[in-house]
Amino acid sequence: MATFHALYDPTGSRHGVPTYPWGWVPDPDLRTKAQLRAEGLSIAGLEVAAQIMWRSRRAGHRLGTRTASLYRRSLARPVRPLTPGQERALCRALMARHTCRECERLWDFCLPTGNGGQCPDGCDATFEAPEDAPLAAAA
Ligand SMILES: [Zn+2]
Repeated sequence: MATFHALYDPTGSRHGVPTYPWGWVPDPDLRTKAQLRAEGLSIAGLEVAAQIMWRSRRAGHRLGTRTASLYRRSLARPVRPLTPGQERALCRALMARHTCRECERLWDFCLPTGNGGQCPDGCDATFEAPEDAPLAAAA
């Protein structure tokens, strides 16, 4: 049976990493993976800074505790950040896939590549691409 004492190990002498009971984490910089994810942050490259431990009947072992790793929010990086160049390239690629190669009509979905990236039901002859059509401007 885990006691409060067993769950509270701020130096990590017993558990290897600093361990706090659920709800007793003293440092607001320490977050779980789920908490960081909710803020758009990734744990990639981060070391486990501490853990929280709580009693649980679902633990499935003798001590009856479960743990969750804690990471330093101040060291976490945003999930897969895009550089301005990558963002522009992505935007251009998306725009190209939405634009008919024949008449340059812009659709609000990706055009199928099977028909050469043209209007799904054939180009509407009456449609005229505006002078400042994004693809025309980029070409
Ligand atoms: Zn077309």
